[in-house]
Amino acid sequence: MMPAPRLEIDLDKIHHNACTLVERLASRGISVTGVTKVTLGSAEIAATLLRAGVSALGDSRIENIEAMRLAQVPASMTLIRSPMLSQAKRVVSHADLSFNTEIEVIRRLSLEAQKAHRTHGVVLMVELGDLREGIMPDDLIGSVRETLNLPNLVFKGIGTNLACRSGVSPDVRNMAVLSELADSIEATLGLTVDIVSGGNSANLHWALSGAKIGRVNDLRLGESILLGRETLHRQPIDGLHTDAITLIAEVIESKVKPSQPSGEIAQTAFGEAPSVTDRGHVTQTILAVGQQDVDPCGLQSPAGIEVLGASSDHLILESDNDALSVGAEVTFQLNYSALVRAMTSPFVAKVMKPVSTHNNFSS
Ligand SMILES: *Cc1c(COP(=O)(O)O)cnc(C)c1O
Repeated sequence: MMPAPRLEIDLDKIHHNACTLVERLASRGISVTGVTKVTLGSAEIAATLLRAGVSALGDSRIENIEAMRLAQVPASMTLIRSPMLSQAKRVVSHADLSFNTEIEVIRRLSLEAQKAHRTHGVVLMVELGDLREGIMPDDLIGSVRETLNLPNLVFKGIGTNLACRSGVSPDVRNMAVLSELADSIEATLGLTVDIVSGGNSANLHWALSGAKIGRVNDLRLGESILLGRETLHRQPIDGLHTDAITLIAEVIESKVKPSQPSGEIAQTAFGEAPSVTDRGHVTQTILAVGQQDVDPCGLQSPAGIEVLGASSDHLILESDNDALSVGAEVTFQLNYSALVRAMTSPFVAKVMKPVSTHNNFSS
């Protein structure tokens, strides 16, 4: 018996998605950093991305990078969130590069790198309108200068991140600003900016639109590889699988019940007020998976099945006539939010298909 609930992770489909995006972007002169954070640094998924031709791996959590190092994943690894001061030592020991925006942090990385007799690469992130991380463009040259003066650090390049906090789309204008900043660093300081990291899955539309690419030579892709969708409008990407990862959960109750609750109505387990329309009696099914394991709003159910609600441990469905019997399994596609929670829940098994034979990197 397969464990439930479980994520079924189809490595061949992930490989296909990654290969396709790597090839399409290569024709635009752009390499791919495969982003592993949603997989919690799964060594098998990382290996799959590397076989598909990603040039490096990126993760926002040092714990995940450490896990991949421990599993001997052979790749350059970038910490793509600004390091915590409290983790600087771990960052220089395990990540080759990190994305940075604060000089205190960069100074600490230099100090820890000196102590460890290591060199650490620094990419400076620039704020281009989305108002998440980034140095203001006018302050960038100053930050590069300060970085260059610090021992055991190598200034590797610049990057930006859009479409995450505010939904600002990568476009010809903001990408041109990033290219100009790379040019101006080179002209002012007489050095080469190796990496110009243009953004995440939200940059695909811009990158593949035929627009001028300028200096951008890398994108960091997670969601588009794993879920097969672009992230500006969450449309499927032509030629990619959107079901490389699915969630399977098991029925623990199936009954015909009224569609409307009875009694005086107060808050639910998660505080929302329930809104219900009377549809008479319906077939209501409960799956053994809940808010603790998945974001119920991010589940796409099979035809004829609708998610009605969820509490911590129960997912409530309404189905067409034929009842899902106790013990039956239901398969869902997931969005990013549902996926990250399911990956993080220890109660959700992770089953790789095909059962992996490429843990061994020498093969
Ligand atoms: C998560 C993340 C990415 C990857 O984003 P996707 O939308 O999954 O492609 C890229 N860059 C940074 C800084 C991130 O935090």
